[in-house]
Parts: sequence; structure tokens; C-alpha cells
Amino acid sequence: MQVYQDHSDASSNVDEIYQAKRRALIATPQTSVLSRFNYINSHTIVCFYLSFSSHIDDSHLRIHLLEYFRLKLHQSNLAVYSKIIINKIIPLLQTPNIVGNHIPINLEAYTLVLDMDETLIYYDGDKVYQRPFLLTFLKQMSRIYELILFTAGLESYAHRILNKLTMKQYFSYFLFRQHTNIYKDFYGKDLRKLGRLLSKTIIIDNTPECFSLQPENGIQIQTWKGDLSDAVLLTLIPILKAIRFSNKDVRVKLREYKNYPGLIFPK
Ligand SMILES: [Mg+2]
Repeated sequence: MQVYQDHSDASSNVDEIYQAKRRALIATPQTSVLSRFNYINSHTIVCFYLSFSSHIDDSHLRIHLLEYFRLKLHQSNLAVYSKIIINKIIPLLQTPNIVGNHIPINLEAYTLVLDMDETLIYYDGDKVYQRPFLLTFLKQMSRIYELILFTAGLESYAHRILNKLTMKQYFSYFLFRQHTNIYKDFYGKDLRKLGRLLSKTIIIDNTPECFSLQPENGIQIQTWKGDLSDAVLLTLIPILKAIRFSNKDVRVKLREYKNYPGLIFPK
């Protein structure tokens, strides 16, 4: 079993923060019983997470565990503490074999993962065509989501296409075929490899197999091959805005749009 050397330090740092908080609570005469109760609960949750996660080698599992603990904190009206806690927990997740080694881990970001071919553009072997409303879509989405382009295409091919287009500026990161899980019949885009919370990550792809590892995070967009009357990207803008600002798990919100025209959601 792998031993995380920094674990006890991080644990004692968290402990120090809560000890300080406890002293402050005791020193304030008007401190309510509820505040004291919240302190004890949050402290218990954090300590339990730290001791529990130190025994887990699987980085995917540790990220899911973090999501669970975060949910518990929110349910306990302890959201005020969650940022401090998350910041303390992130270093524990940044071990060499961690999932997010393609790009830096970010557990705060709302992330939109976008496929390239026949989702955003169409390449006929000669010319690259942009889906209608592409730049409007990317410009607006990049203000409220972190955008990651994730194509199953080869990196050399993708760069050749991207270098022709201005859409490149809106993306924070680019992932290519070597970042997919290669199965017999398809390239799987495993969102757990991004080092993001699945509760804040959406993938849009015209090939549903690509997100079959996390179907509840996906929107299957109609395949686009040059039809200039297509307006699906425009349709998506208000939907993605509503999801982003709902403060709910994106997987729960996505279910509300299951029968939306032009979009196909997995069963
Ligand atoms: Mg595609």
C-alpha cells in the first residue's frame, strides 16, 4: 500500500484550523449552541475523511470520496468551512499517480468538455467548417465554464485543424487520442481522468460511446456535417447557463432536459 508522507502534516494543519475555530467560539459569549454543534460536526467529517482517505490508493475513489464528504458538509449547513477543507485536501490528491496528471487538478471549476469533429467543426479533408454559432457559444460558455477540448483524433491532426481556427483561444486545455481509453470499438473519454468533480463536469459529444463511462454527465449533440441551418449550439446556451447557476449536481440537472429538441440524452 502506498504511503502518503504528507498526510499527517495536512491532517494536523486541518486540526490546527479547527482548534483555533473552537477557541474563538468558546471565547465569544454570544456563540450559539448551533455554532458549537456545527464546529463539532465539521471537525468530525474532516478528520474522518483524512483518516479514511489515507488508506486508499485508488485516486478515482478518493475523488469520489471527496465529493461525498463535500455533500455531507453542504447538507450540514457547513458550507462555510468547505473551502478551507477542500484546500487542505487537494494536496493529498496530488500524488504522482493521480488521475489529473494530464492537467492540474481543479475541484472548484465547472467544466465543459467538448468534442471537436462533427460536434464543433466539420473537416471534409480539404476545408474546415465551423458549426453555426460556434464562436458565440464558446465566448459565452468560457465566461462561466472552464472549457476543455477533448478529441479522440490524433494530436497532430487536431493541431492542424485548431491552428486554422480562432476558437482555440476559448479553451483552457486540449486532450487528444492518447488521453482516451482505447476499447475495441470506441475511444472512451473518462472524465475521472480530468481531476475535476463529476458533479461539476459536462461533456458534449456527437458520439455517445465516447462518454459511455459516465453517461449521466453527457449530452449527445446531433452530428454536424455542414448544415448551415443548424442552431443546436444556440439552443444549448440557455440550458448550460441554467445548469451552471443552479448550484445542483450537473448530473441531476441534465435529466431535466432529456426530451429537448435537437439534443439526445442517454437513457
Ligand atoms: Mg465527434
